Amino acid sequence: MSAFLSAKHCPIYLDYQASTPMDPRVLEAMLPYFQGAFGNASSAAHAYGHEAADAIKQAARQLANLVDANLHPGVQHPLIWTSGATESINLALQGYVRQHQPLLDNQRLFRLATLPLEHKAVLDTAKMLEREGLVELVLLDVNAQGQIDLQQLERELKQGLDLLAIMAANNEIGTIYPVQTIAKLAQDYDCAFFCDGSQAVGKIPIEFENWGITLLALTGHKIYGPKGCGALIVRRGTRLKAQIYGGGHQHGLRSGTLNVPGIVGLGEACALRAAEMQADEAHTAQLRDRLQARLQAEIPELMVNGDQPRRLAGNLHLSIPSVPNDLLVGYLQAHLALSTGSACTSGLEASSHVLSAIGLDANALRGALRLSLGKFTTAAEIEQAADILIDAYQQARAKLRLD
Ligand code: PLP
Repeated sequence: MSAFLSAKHCPIYLDYQASTPMDPRVLEAMLPYFQGAFGNASSAAHAYGHEAADAIKQAARQLANLVDANLHPGVQHPLIWTSGATESINLALQGYVRQHQPLLDNQRLFRLATLPLEHKAVLDTAKMLEREGLVELVLLDVNAQGQIDLQQLERELKQGLDLLAIMAANNEIGTIYPVQTIAKLAQDYDCAFFCDGSQAVGKIPIEFENWGITLLALTGHKIYGPKGCGALIVRRGTRLKAQIYGGGHQHGLRSGTLNVPGIVGLGEACALRAAEMQADEAHTAQLRDRLQARLQAEIPELMVNGDQPRRLAGNLHLSIPSVPNDLLVGYLQAHLALSTGSACTSGLEASSHVLSAIGLDANALRGALRLSLGKFTTAAEIEQAADILIDAYQQARAKLRLD
């Protein structure tokens, strides 16, 4: 835990969907690349450069292995290293639309479809492209669990879609989407499919090559790797327009000196996830289920949001309609680190577009809490967290004179 927090009182961390602590083994792998092995991966004329370039190749293999991005042994799909998922998403959406939109005949607009509960990095980019007059934006329906309507998707594909952007799992309610089925549908109708895998890669199986995904974004800080380092995997033959110009690095698609320590860390995090994901996620789901059961036993009005049979193992999204979350957080803050909105949006915890999209009523919206667990969460922390939450709930009810 952080030196800052451990010096004081340390709240139990239940905000893994905002960011995960870095695995100490990832840090260990990164450290040499800050000092002795500090070369620039583009320096082709000396050993320092070769060492850095080799480390990047190794990280690419580790990442490709996690998400099945090898065409056949030794041959990978192009992989663009970025500063995180937000940049990967911008490169995917803007890069694809700006490359392909001018090639359309003038009879129709480029059609881009997405879900209303995607991360803001997707939604705001898509809306900006719409404002620029480059795309017709289609917002697909979701149900009360946040699930997609596959029949509606197929109807839209039949009418002609050029690009489909659907996340693999939602960052607030944890709903997991049927990516394999969606990729197959998109392929059947010759539509490019971009998948934001930020919350899902390393937590659930994703098979880029086998499922036929066109573009896949991911980020290090959701899988026990470093912040500020992510990637976009691009299906071989897919053309994108660069968004950052300069020295022509990375096939000219993303200029800039590579962040070698960060990339090494992301690669190591992927290797660890490939080896440990299954066991870690099963354990995390057990702890999550225990927490949910304890809260349900003591808080009769508790609502569990999202798609319970198909949600991320570490996600527990709740609403307590009679108690506004700001009041509850007042009691909880010193003891529990959790979220009332999604931290990745900004410092502002405005009412969530995800919860509005699934149709929560005003009380359920005001009483919403996201708890998210991960591989370092312990059984003892879960028991304590349940005690703290139940106690805070009772204090809040007493304050509101509800009991
Ligand atoms: N997409 C999703 C689903 C996320 O949860 C996040 C959260 O941070 C992002 C994109 C943005 O990722 P990054 O922080 O790496 O830019």
